[in-house]
Amino acid sequence: MIDLILKKSKEKSLLRRHPWVYDTAVARMTGKSASGETVRVLSNDGRFLAYAAFSPFSSIRARCWSFREDERIDEAWFAQKIRQAVEARADLWSRTNAVRLVFGEADGLPGLIVDQYDDFLVTQFQAAGVEARRTLIGRLLMEATGARGVFDRSDAATRRREGLEPRIELLAGEEPPVEIEVVEDGVRYGVDVRVGHKTGFYIDQRESRLTAQKVAERFREKHGRGLRALNCFCYTGGFSLALLKGGAESVVSVDSSEEALRMAAANVRRNGFDESKAEFLCEDVFTALRRMRDAGETFDLVILDPPKFASSHYHVDRAARAYKDINLNGLKLLRPDGELFTFSCSGAIDQDLFQKIVAGAIFDAGVDAWAIGRFGAGIDHPLLMTYPEGEYLKGLRILVRP
Ligand code: SAH
Repeated sequence: MIDLILKKSKEKSLLRRHPWVYDTAVARMTGKSASGETVRVLSNDGRFLAYAAFSPFSSIRARCWSFREDERIDEAWFAQKIRQAVEARADLWSRTNAVRLVFGEADGLPGLIVDQYDDFLVTQFQAAGVEARRTLIGRLLMEATGARGVFDRSDAATRRREGLEPRIELLAGEEPPVEIEVVEDGVRYGVDVRVGHKTGFYIDQRESRLTAQKVAERFREKHGRGLRALNCFCYTGGFSLALLKGGAESVVSVDSSEEALRMAAANVRRNGFDESKAEFLCEDVFTALRRMRDAGETFDLVILDPPKFASSHYHVDRAARAYKDINLNGLKLLRPDGELFTFSCSGAIDQDLFQKIVAGAIFDAGVDAWAIGRFGAGIDHPLLMTYPEGEYLKGLRILVRP
């Protein structure tokens, strides 16, 4: 095995079990290593630190498999990691058949994403180490889950940084159908694993969608009428459907993608919900919020779940202004005692900063507001405590009084 030797005092993050080795930390290697090959990472004075997958093109030059010198990174090791990841999600199946089975670094498999939709798995290989073992991983996933097929959606932009080309193809077993139907907390959704965002569905918003459903239920009990909601960036209708399931009176959903809105409308019919309660608008949210504000429209609940505005630390300022803008204009549409569900999935914007941005919007809106809940991804997106970069989704449930 080839050794990757770090520069002096560059071993600190690995000693704290952070799984990445940056190119700037590398002093030298004892030979030429192929992309994805396992190397031994040593400190400058020759101490064992980790086994890691070598990535020749990425600024993250190696991603650690293991910090234990007695481990062997072989087929049995991968089989065990995958089994562990699958077992850790066992409790979710009573609620849903859309589950993230493997969440990269957090599950000890850097760069590997695996989502299960009913009987099919969808993979994303986002780093050289897992890419080099994709056939093995496809087979092990079939064995660990009994799935009918594994479809590879390795088209995320992050692959380029690893020097990997995009790829969309069947990896193992049967081709998935054009649309897979999943059921989450009693709501049915169609998932298109070939062209949908991420692997087809925002699995990470499960807990927030359930809260939305409960808020709609509680509203009806309390007020004797259903709530009127605005769901911005609705995609295939995630929150809109959860609200209708909970008994909302009307849900206005906005997205700029016609394709997503078509699927959202189909999802309303799929659930047998009253179509007259669901209005879909193909519009830019920034424009729509201003238009509705000028028209004097009001809602009991506004949901803002935008795409990642900050793709890296370089874009934080511009993203912060965009978050502030939609939050300010969203707040202006709320009735007294209305609620705002507001999210950010930008990893570069942490909890603290997001809270400050929302607080700024609240101040500018001139209202009193309380955070009465916090949102995040569910147990299938665990946060490895030595790898804070794994946290990306955060949200606030805000109650507003004039
Ligand atoms: N809330 C959704 C996920 C939202 S993903 C769920 O739970 O499933 C973000 C969505 O925002 C995408 O569907 C994308 O088409 C849409 N989008 C991105 N920029 C937009 C804009 N400026 N105006 C309206 N929609 C936008």
